[in-house]
Amino acid sequence: MSGEALDVRLNSEWELVCGRLREEVGEAAYQSWLKPMSVREMTGGQIRLSVPTRFMQDWVVAHYAERLSALWQVENPDVDSVDVIVQSDRRALRTRAAEDMGVEQKPSPPLAPARPRTSQRLEESYAEINAPLDPRFTFDQFVVGKPNEFAYAAARRVAEADTVPFNPLFLYGGVGLGKTHLMHAIAWSIRNENATRNVIYLSAEKFMYRFIRALREQNTVDFKEQFRSVDVLMIDDVQFIAGKDSTQEEFFHTFNALVDQRRQIVLSADKSPSNLEGIEERLKSRLNCGLVADLHATTYELRLGILQSKADQIGVDVQSNVLEFLAHKITSNVRELEGALNRIVAHAQLVGRETTLETTQEVLHDLLRANDRRVTIEEIQKRVAEHFNIRTSDMHSARRARSVARPRQVAMYLAKQLTSRSLPEIGRKFGGRDHTTVMHAVKKVDELRERDAGFAEDVDLLRRMLEG
Ligand code: ADP
Ligand code: MG
Repeated sequence: MSGEALDVRLNSEWELVCGRLREEVGEAAYQSWLKPMSVREMTGGQIRLSVPTRFMQDWVVAHYAERLSALWQVENPDVDSVDVIVQSDRRALRTRAAEDMGVEQKPSPPLAPARPRTSQRLEESYAEINAPLDPRFTFDQFVVGKPNEFAYAAARRVAEADTVPFNPLFLYGGVGLGKTHLMHAIAWSIRNENATRNVIYLSAEKFMYRFIRALREQNTVDFKEQFRSVDVLMIDDVQFIAGKDSTQEEFFHTFNALVDQRRQIVLSADKSPSNLEGIEERLKSRLNCGLVADLHATTYELRLGILQSKADQIGVDVQSNVLEFLAHKITSNVRELEGALNRIVAHAQLVGRETTLETTQEVLHDLLRANDRRVTIEEIQKRVAEHFNIRTSDMHSARRARSVARPRQVAMYLAKQLTSRSLPEIGRKFGGRDHTTVMHAVKKVDELRERDAGFAEDVDLLRRMLEG
C-alpha cells in the first residue's frame, strides 16, 4: 500500500476507534484526552499515536492504551499494540509522511506548499486550544467602508505577509463591529495560502482557562511549549484578562517569547491598549508597540453595503427601500443588523410574500423600538453642558475658550456616534458650524481619548448615560 493510502486507512480506523472509546469514556474525557491525539503510523503490528505533551502521554498510556489496542484489533486484526509518543510539532509529521512516500527531505520544510491533509492534521493536534473558525468570516465576506478600512487593510497585510509586518496587530472597537470576523479571516487566509503555518485562534477567556488548568495539573511547561510553538497566535477579547494578574503575567511572557521569535500576534479588545483598565503598564506599552487599528461605529453607507451583501449571500431579493430603512434604523451594531435581515427574510419565506416597508415595520417592531430610543442632539448638548458645567447656549455660541470649546467638541463627537445625523446636519445644530469643524472635533476627541484615560472615561460615561 502507498504511504498516502495507508495514511487514509489509518485515519479512518482511528476515527472508528476513537468514536467507540468516546462513547465509553464520555464527552469530557474525550475532549481532554482523545481529541488532541493523532495517528502517526503503523509499523509491524504497532500503531503509533501522538499527543502534544508528555503529561498527556503519561495519562493516555496509563488509562487508555490497552483499551485502544483492543478496540483497534476489532477494526484491524493486524494490530497488536498501541504506542503513544509526544509530538507537538506537526512539521515532524510532514517529514515522516514524506519519508513514507520516499520523498527526499529538504532541510527546511516549514514553508513547503501544503496538502489539504496536513491542515486537517493541524486542526487535530491543536484542536484542544484552537477555537473553531466560522466559515462565513472570510475577507471576501467582509464589507469594507470608511469605519473599518484601516483595520481591514491591516488584517489583510498580516494575512498576506511572509514576514511579520507589525507586532502585535491590535484590533479594537465596540461590540459587533467585526473584530472576530477579521481575525477568523486572517486565519482562513493563512490556512488556505500556506497550511504549514501554524495558526492558533482562541478567546482570552479560553487562554485563561487553559492556563489555570495547566497550573492545577502542574503542567505549565507544556502549556508554554504549546503556545510558543505557533507561527501566528490570535487572542480575541483580551479585555477579559484585565485584572487577572497571573494570567496576565503568563500572557506577557508568551507574548514576549513569540515576539522575540518573530512570530505574528493578533489581538482584539473592546478598547485601545491605553484605555484597557486593569492591564499592567508594561503590557500596555508592549501592546502599543505594533499596529493599533480601530473599528469605528458603522456609518449609514457601510450598513447599507453590509445589508446588500448579506442579502446577496442568502440569495434573496429585498426591496432597496427596505434595506435603506433598516440601515437608517438599526444603528447599534452589525450583528443586530444581520439579525433584522434574517428575521424579515424568514418571515417573507414563511408567508410567501415579498417584504415591504410595512411588513418590515411589523415584523421588527420590538427591535425598532429599542433602536428608536435614540438620543437627540439637543439632549446630548444639554447633558454634556451639565457635565462640564457650562451653559447649554455655549454649544451654539462662537466662544473659543478651551473651557467651552472642548465640551462642544465632545458633544459633536457624541452626536456623531449616537445619532444618525450627517456631519453637516450636526454642524448646523451647533450654531451653524461647518461640517469640517465637526470632523475635526471627532478626530480631536478620538486623539484625546487615546492619550488621556481620564478623558476617555468621561466621554464613555456620558455616552452610557445618554444611551441608557
Ligand atoms: P465583534 O467581534 O467586533 O464583536 P463580530 O466580528 O462578531 O464582531 O461581528 C458581528 C457580526 O457582524 C458577524 O456576523 C460579522 O460577520 C458581521 N460583520 C461585522 N462587520 C462586518 C462587515 N464589515 N462586513 C460583513 N459582516 C460584518
Ligand atoms: Mg468578537
